[in-house]
Amino acid sequence: MAGIYLHIPFCDTKCIYCDFYSITNHSKKSEFLGAIKKEMISRSAVLTNRQFDSIFFGGGTPSLLEAAEFRELFDVLYSNYHISADTEITIEANPGTLSREKLDQFRTLPINRMSFGVQSFNNGELKFLTRIHTAEEAMESIKHAKAAGFDNLNLDLIFALPGQKLDNWKYNLEKAIKLDTKHISAYSLIFEKGTMLYSMREKKQVSQADIDLEQEMYEFTMEFLESAGYKQYEISNYAKPGFECRHNLKYWTLEEYISFGPSASSYIGNERWTNIKNIGRYIELVEAGKPAYDFIETIDSQTSVTEHIMLGLRSRGVYFEDFRSKHGIDFESAYVTPIQTLLSNGYAVKDESKLTLTRKGYAMCDELVATLF
Ligand code: SF4
Repeated sequence: MAGIYLHIPFCDTKCIYCDFYSITNHSKKSEFLGAIKKEMISRSAVLTNRQFDSIFFGGGTPSLLEAAEFRELFDVLYSNYHISADTEITIEANPGTLSREKLDQFRTLPINRMSFGVQSFNNGELKFLTRIHTAEEAMESIKHAKAAGFDNLNLDLIFALPGQKLDNWKYNLEKAIKLDTKHISAYSLIFEKGTMLYSMREKKQVSQADIDLEQEMYEFTMEFLESAGYKQYEISNYAKPGFECRHNLKYWTLEEYISFGPSASSYIGNERWTNIKNIGRYIELVEAGKPAYDFIETIDSQTSVTEHIMLGLRSRGVYFEDFRSKHGIDFESAYVTPIQTLLSNGYAVKDESKLTLTRKGYAMCDELVATLF
């Protein structure tokens, strides 16, 4: 089944490390909501034979929207797309934007999963990251979400911050585990070109964490979360059994997804396209009845094979039957030498259905994929 993504680009402030398309000027909000509804309707005619079982509101900060605004988006989705009864419906939430009252209103919507951008439980680290909330507010938001009846929660954390020690990171993981959310995403801090953080490093105002310490933190995370009952199912993602994010798994298993809003990427059939990263232009294009993308590509069979291996190894593994049915290739006989190298060095394990990376393999995943495949 396929997934649906909606990009809600509004944020209260821009975090220094953020590379997502987000804007702090909310003056075009109602025009944007009108345009995204139009885009959903205009795309639906060619997708009538698809069934959808995941919807993800990302951003930006979707939790800035009001419940009534979400309701209108759901009305359009449910009247134009075949949405399964048990669909996973996630919204990304910024702890600084949610009151208990708002969470109660959200509970009346079809939303059944919330992903909190917490990033740290240390107020100094949060300040450095220019987050709009404190550690206490983040904990309160999660408790309120649980009390409102949301039991499928994710929490995003960032490690390898400048000056952060392994103990500081351990403290964040302990706090996260105590909150007993079903899912934790733990990413290392990336200095993306174009961000404030990147230029701070260029100006030598901040220095990146030592690579060996970052590796130590990553290896510690895998062990620590696993021992607390979270199974790693992707390089940066850990879930209690049965709570893997269905929507993100679609990206990692090359399933189809249709996306709406500025900067949103879609993958349908053998085409992948990305909408323009400019809200004004996005609205103009949609209102003129034109496609809102500024990039489109056709995925050829070789690219599809390479992506399948890379994404499979980064996540739950390469499933032989799935690989054969998608590409008409027997994975085990086509890649005898790389598979043997992974197995003999302890980077991967193999059973009768799949090849999966070990912790040691996850820690070197990008390098292994690049050199072996
Ligand atoms: S709240 Fe999230 S999307 Fe918005 S600027 Fe910060 S990191 Fe980016």
